[in-house]
Amino acid sequence: MNTSYPRPRILVSRCLGFDACRYDGQQLRSRVVELLRDHVDFVPVCPEIEAGLGVPRPPIRLCWENEQIDVRQPAENRSVTDVLKKAALNFIDEADGCDGAILKSKSPSCALTDAKIYRSINKPQFLRRDSGIFGTLVLRKMENKAVDDEQRLTNLALREHFLIKLYVWARFRAIAEQPKMGELVSFHASHKLLFLAYNQSRFRVCGKITANHERLPVSDVFGRYAAELGQVLVRPFRRQAMVNTLYHAYGWIAEHLSSEEKQYIINTIEEYRDERIPLQGVTRLIEAQAIRFKRDYILDQVLLRPFPAQLSDLSDSGKGREVT
Ligand code: SF4
Repeated sequence: MNTSYPRPRILVSRCLGFDACRYDGQQLRSRVVELLRDHVDFVPVCPEIEAGLGVPRPPIRLCWENEQIDVRQPAENRSVTDVLKKAALNFIDEADGCDGAILKSKSPSCALTDAKIYRSINKPQFLRRDSGIFGTLVLRKMENKAVDDEQRLTNLALREHFLIKLYVWARFRAIAEQPKMGELVSFHASHKLLFLAYNQSRFRVCGKITANHERLPVSDVFGRYAAELGQVLVRPFRRQAMVNTLYHAYGWIAEHLSSEEKQYIINTIEEYRDERIPLQGVTRLIEAQAIRFKRDYILDQVLLRPFPAQLSDLSDSGKGREVT
């Protein structure tokens, strides 16, 4: 059983607990950022400070004018589009080597989905919500990585998905630094149950890439695998798919169990299906039986402990699901 974890790198909005750099001279607290502090390397960035807008500063606003975004600072009656875009471009290279990003929601610079866009400059009317100037670049550059905002990560299901994805990418980055086919085969094998719960058909494509019947160079195989991995993890797993996977894992330990023990585990999986217990309630039970019967295949599965136990947090705001 492998319980060691890589140390993910996360790009993060600096105002989320790293600096009092908001327009009003404040900083914010984010529970998920605090939770992660001892386990990851954060790369804090603030595009508005980089753009020289100072602290405190008059707020900025995204305006849709002449079919494009103009970033206005109404109190100064000026456009800051060019300086902000330049700052965002300067920072985006920081995303290289990061496994994920946590950005500030609703910010005209950092937001990923919910910055307010106004129609016109002079008599602004709310038009729609969209990503901010920096958020747009991050989404493009880190398309497949674990990227979300601090508000959506108060939702239990989205946070669980984020953490799973973050650690998958951190593990993959670790083996991709010096790519070896043997390590890719082991990576794929240990993620089998997890990926089956996410996307069976994509998982099979990953298997074919790993088999490398075309005898491609190792670096090409890693590149193709990384692209497919992004597709495996593109959406949170569905509960039904996870239930099927849990029964698959159960099949590996069932033969030695008494009928009472079997029924107990089946009942526990069904409780998970009914959203009455968390996933860990089932995986710990399966893990205990795998230890008891020395089922190494199950014990090697990342599904049992996809991220450090200290990061498990069952609080759930219920927010954010509507924009999954
Ligand atoms: S939201 Fe982004 S630009 Fe605004 S203060 Fe935070 S880090 Fe800086």
